[in-house]
Amino acid sequence: MAQFFDATTDAICFLDRDYNFTFLNRRANELISQGKDLTGCNLFTTFPGVVYEGSPYVANYARSMKERVPGAFEAFYPEPLNIWLSVQSYPAEDGIMLFFRDVTQQKADHEALRRKTAEAERQHAELQTIYDTAPIGLALFDLDDYHYLRLNDRQAAFFGLRPDQVVGRTLVEMAPIEGLRELFDQVRDGKPVINFPLEGTLLTDPDPTNIRSWTVSYFPVYGADGTIQAITAASLEVTQQKKAEAALIQSEKLAVVGRLASSIAHEINNPLEAVTNLIYLARTSERREEVAQFLDTAEVELRRVSAIVSQTLRFHKQATSPQEVFLPDVVTSVLSIFQGRIANSRITVERRPRVSRTVRCFEGEIRQVISNLLGNALDAMPSGGRLVLRARQGTHWRTGRAGIFFTLADTGEGISPGTRGRLFNPFFTTKGITGTGLGLWVSKEIMERHHGTIIVRSSQNSQHRGTVFTLFLPFDAVDR
Ligand code: ADP
Ligand code: MG
Repeated sequence: MAQFFDATTDAICFLDRDYNFTFLNRRANELISQGKDLTGCNLFTTFPGVVYEGSPYVANYARSMKERVPGAFEAFYPEPLNIWLSVQSYPAEDGIMLFFRDVTQQKADHEALRRKTAEAERQHAELQTIYDTAPIGLALFDLDDYHYLRLNDRQAAFFGLRPDQVVGRTLVEMAPIEGLRELFDQVRDGKPVINFPLEGTLLTDPDPTNIRSWTVSYFPVYGADGTIQAITAASLEVTQQKKAEAALIQSEKLAVVGRLASSIAHEINNPLEAVTNLIYLARTSERREEVAQFLDTAEVELRRVSAIVSQTLRFHKQATSPQEVFLPDVVTSVLSIFQGRIANSRITVERRPRVSRTVRCFEGEIRQVISNLLGNALDAMPSGGRLVLRARQGTHWRTGRAGIFFTLADTGEGISPGTRGRLFNPFFTTKGITGTGLGLWVSKEIMERHHGTIIVRSSQNSQHRGTVFTLFLPFDAVDR
């Protein structure tokens, strides 16, 4: 019997009807005896901390004792013991049995667990707050047709809805954007999508012509077994920024047109002043041949004015249909616009127009490209130089297309290696407020639209300083 009780890990004591210990098992001795033999000792004398109130009946004091257990055996221990105690009547001897257990460790474990849980709850609340209030749309999708499992307020606000109105609906239903499903398929196959620009409209958008823009990142969510379970999506709407950017580009383009208009006005004003003077001189001159000469000169100036005006009109009337164009004619008319500047800056122009065929293109656009290149070349030679314009027929080595190579070479300052990579970027200029940085960007776009190319070579070596731009324009630059 004693052996049996010694084997259990609970402490067990028997007491007689006067609460004297009659038996303590091994664990009970370890916990409360501290090396003394308590057999025969009285419970309340030995442990004054154990008190009870009430009637002498076993059941009653058992209950009352159970309630007063904390600190019961304190007398023996520096630290209060955490004892779980159960009191049972023991009718056979008209006594009681005590079962107790040291639960200090359990309590400590429990407390640690409680603290950990509280911390986890706090972290969860923090994450939830971030999730709810993040200025970025967040959503979780299942893999079966990509249903919204969860989404935050910002994501729902893209639709003008609350999160609960979106949960359960599918991605494709809510965001019928071309290619979006394929992006998700890619993520489902394990390839994340990072900072991808997305454009389109959503199911709930009132105006489907009002295209919106987002930057999105999609990641697969892996389960414990390493398989993909879901997809997370983070979306940032950038529609306003895109619109602002477009407006800026537009206003810069208008600035280019404005500058062009003012330089044209300048080009026209000079000859008109000259004509006014010549007419005044003719009227006041007495000599007949002198009058004829003044009027001849006036006529030349007027012809230039007329060329510039008709040129400008064509410039503005952007061709809507392609024309057959003889490139050297275009170059001639562009040169006539810049004639005043060229004459004033000690620049010599050489031309080698070795072409016989016309090109089908949008004339106004090609004129714009040549005028941009010419303007840049003149800017690069403020104190004079040489400008060589060549045109020849040939085949582009990469595309195999036949067309015209046009080169425009200047002996200007050249382009530094540091700026060469950025020439064709919009707004890249080394001319401060007098430049727009749009000329080459627009030119490249036009050449691409014509299935052509634009390349640049440049040297700042004092032996052969200068820049060469080469255009390739296929004969059938635009479709018939
Ligand atoms: P912008 O003329 O308004 O600066 P562009 O796009 O026409 O804008 O040209 C971009 C830049 O490329 C110029 O600011 C200049 O630094 C450089 N560049 C273009 N053409 C030449 C050239 N022929 N010689 C030297 N630099 C050039
Ligand atoms: Mg320019």
